[in-house]
Amino acid sequence: MANIVFSNVTKRYGSTLAVDDASFTVNDNEFFCFFGPPLSGKSTLLRLILGLEVPDTGEILIGGRPVNAVSPAERNVAMVFQNLALFPHMSALENVRFPLVERRIAEAEIEKRVADVAAKLHIGHILHKPPAQLSGGERQRVAIARALVRDPAAYLMDDPISALDARLREETRVELKRIQRELGKTLVYVTHDQEEAMSVADRIAILENGRIRQIGAPAEIYDRPASTYVARMLGSPMMNILASVRGEGGVEAADGTIRIADKAAPADAVEIGLRPEDIKVRPWSDDGRAVAGAGRPARVFEVEPLGGYTVVTLAAGQARLRALLRGQPDIRPDAMVAISCEPARVHYFGQGGGALAR
Ligand code: ADP
Ligand code: MG
Repeated sequence: MANIVFSNVTKRYGSTLAVDDASFTVNDNEFFCFFGPPLSGKSTLLRLILGLEVPDTGEILIGGRPVNAVSPAERNVAMVFQNLALFPHMSALENVRFPLVERRIAEAEIEKRVADVAAKLHIGHILHKPPAQLSGGERQRVAIARALVRDPAAYLMDDPISALDARLREETRVELKRIQRELGKTLVYVTHDQEEAMSVADRIAILENGRIRQIGAPAEIYDRPASTYVARMLGSPMMNILASVRGEGGVEAADGTIRIADKAAPADAVEIGLRPEDIKVRPWSDDGRAVAGAGRPARVFEVEPLGGYTVVTLAAGQARLRALLRGQPDIRPDAMVAISCEPARVHYFGQGGGALAR
């Protein structure tokens, strides 16, 4: 069992509260992701797990064992991926063997572990080659194999692929996800990239200034963000959040941008949140008059065709809204459109930004 438990862990550097009263459990075999902006405490959390930092207050358990007083070497967790570059003068095989040779592991055990990891990463056939003869993707897999060949209880990765170009990043995160599942190991992963967090993690912990704001499966957080902060963290384009008032027919944006016919809207809502994909955009009538029931008028500010979908920025009332439309609809800048949103798709937030149940 290699679950990791934090109870009420706080870590300060001088007057900086790097980790503020963190309590959570990373489950055995879980791909668990810390996600937050720079300086939100992600790396400090990893260093606390590794044992490079000790909590000021609170307790950390790994596999059920309290580790506050246990040295990094005895914790059996491994920070991997600090360096994805391979040694150019060694073959792929020598690269993969290196961490074990360095630790003076017995030869028979080295061969067994290398064969095991090579099979899982499908690199057995290229191990004899030097890095210069490998493709980019192959080099990546050899580097991952070298990182994984140690056999710790849990792996930690601190923003491991942020330096790669976009295409390689996408490929590598798919590899990582598959490898983690096949290895069946606990993996704690840090990223500042929301798409990466959503794509790889079983669960995400969302951080703000050292505080964990929400923990859950990506889809769960996306569909039910606990606050406007979390709502803005996941999703691209991000959720549209507008000040709201109660009107006759339900809720409306404070400046009339959009009306939601939702009698069940919580009375204490002060903001509404609309995901871009939930905003319906219809053509305004040809003669310039509103089509009954089609929604509120908006002017198309800009159109970004992205192939499979199109992002349309709308100027409505005082607000700019972003809508995500499927395909490449025939919409041009400055056109008038009607916008609306299904009441069931609206998120409501109260004073202070907390989500409200409808
Ligand atoms: P992240 O990894 O999310 O960028 P960090 O965990 O590195 O955030 O930092 C959290 C906070 O703790 C930041 O305000 C940072 O400046 C501070 N901090 C981190 N490490 C140290 C340190 N060694 N000394 C002083 N302050 C630190
Ligand atoms: Mg960091």
